Amino acid sequence: MDNIEKVTDVILIGAGIMSATLGALLKELVPEWEIKVFEKLGDSGEESSNEWNNAGTGHSALCELNYTTEKSDGSIDISKAIVINEQFQLSRQFWSFLVKSNLLRNPKDFIMPIPHMSLVQGEKNVAFLKKRFEVLSNHPMFQGMEFSDDPDQLKEWIPLIMEGRTSEEPIAATKIDSGTDVNFGALTRMLFDHLKSKDVEINYNHSVEDFKRLSDGSWEVKVQDIANGTIENHMAKFVFIGGGGGSLPLLQKTGIPESKHIGGFPVSGLFMVCSNPEVVEQHHAKVYGKAKIGAPPMSVPHLDTRYIDNKRTLLFGPFAGFSPKFLKTGSNFDLIGSVKPDNVLTMLAAGVKEMALTKYLIQQVMLSNEERMEELREFIPNAKSEDWEVMSAGQRVQIIKDTESGGKGTLQFGTELITSADGSIAALLGASPGASTVVHVMLELLNKCFPQHMKEWEPKIKEMIPSYGLSLVENPELYKEIHDSTSQTLGLSEKETVYL
Ligand SMILES: Cc1cc2nc3c(=O)[nH]c(=O)nc-3n(C[C@H](O)[C@H](O)[C@H](O)COP(=O)(O)OP(=O)(O)OC[C@H]3O[C@@H](n4cnc5c(N)ncnc54)[C@H](O)[C@@H]3O)c2cc1C
Repeated sequence: MDNIEKVTDVILIGAGIMSATLGALLKELVPEWEIKVFEKLGDSGEESSNEWNNAGTGHSALCELNYTTEKSDGSIDISKAIVINEQFQLSRQFWSFLVKSNLLRNPKDFIMPIPHMSLVQGEKNVAFLKKRFEVLSNHPMFQGMEFSDDPDQLKEWIPLIMEGRTSEEPIAATKIDSGTDVNFGALTRMLFDHLKSKDVEINYNHSVEDFKRLSDGSWEVKVQDIANGTIENHMAKFVFIGGGGGSLPLLQKTGIPESKHIGGFPVSGLFMVCSNPEVVEQHHAKVYGKAKIGAPPMSVPHLDTRYIDNKRTLLFGPFAGFSPKFLKTGSNFDLIGSVKPDNVLTMLAAGVKEMALTKYLIQQVMLSNEERMEELREFIPNAKSEDWEVMSAGQRVQIIKDTESGGKGTLQFGTELITSADGSIAALLGASPGASTVVHVMLELLNKCFPQHMKEWEPKIKEMIPSYGLSLVENPELYKEIHDSTSQTLGLSEKETVYL
């Protein structure tokens, strides 16, 4: 049955953290705009944004070694770390605004303070970490970072990791207490509750199937009601494709020129979860290691204290792997179905270039549980198999594009916002640094898609995100002021929170 509906202002596709944030921003900027959401699953925050499907790190480059590289002259490049840190401050400011306005209630339900640490072994890695520490700790954004290569100090910081360690190799870590664990699943659900209270129409079990561009520039979105198979056609002046891994096939269906020559490479993930509360209690940090040679950046191993369902837990991973699905709940035909005449050469070039990566990912999938335990024992030498369970994480679809620097079919590890020339449709591709930088990404979207409104919206944006339009790098005092006030509002000031 075909059923034509009236034109709505905005359609958000997907009920993950990205749509949730865009919806919340728009509801503050233009409360009168009508917004509809279509989500194919039965609830919000069920795919990558779910707390069990991602690592919950508030990425601000406090511990992730892949955001700082060693240049050929031996110096450390921290430019990417600074960008990521600044982007996370935007998220903290928007969340603080929502808390202060009583639009989000208890910040502890979605963000908790947790030390962020980097841990390395071997002389060369220790020298790198020390050099990195010297540069970062002198920068206003990384104040409070400590370094130690003293085993006794490390035993205090990370007893579980140091106990039973027999290796004679040098070992060192950095630690900074201002890190966070973010429950993006809880945050997504809280934001959708808020949107519902603001009369946003949220349609679960509704899958977006296709698009048609109408002569007046608006979009007709074809949606299937999964419960009864009915097809509905909804029209909107603006559409955001926030389908996570499912965004690429939807973007391709729009037919916009900007959707061409782009491919996707799905990477699956596995976490190991500790089921022994005594072990969980012995660790209190997110500890990031170094990616193995040949391993992609998203497979950097880390041992994380997490706060999920009001309980402290311990996760190790993620182990990256290969799966042809674009979503955890996707189909085995997703990858092959995304190969189109316009991107086939790009995809083939990537296939040839990334042979080693594909081989690595397939090998990772084939690991036995005991082999995974061996990797875990590099972190926790005394880890017992009976204390750990394997669970599958979310899918990450990495972007494949032709780039000037990398040539045809280059695999990208970042996030990319694709918008039509007239700003009537936008899609978010890629997965990293992901949810942490959601506010930065959505501000970019507003600038690209609604340039005609930005002047009028600016005062409200500045009320929600006080540093909007200013550089926190160039204004260290403002950085400190914002960092302190958001820590206060989000309950991150306490040194250690007992949450059992
Ligand atoms: C293993 C792993 C670890 C990660 N760790 C971190 C981390 O530590 N920190 C961090 O900041 N980020 C992390 N990320 C990234 C982060 O999870 C994502 O960037 C973020 O959740 C993406 O949000 P989203 O709203 O775009 O997608 P999702 O949360 O996946 O939501 C997309 C939604 O769209 C729906 N959908 C798809 N297609 C359709 C359709 N046709 N019709 C209707 N609905 C549709 C899906 O069902 C889904 O609910 C990690 C990701 C993974 C997989």
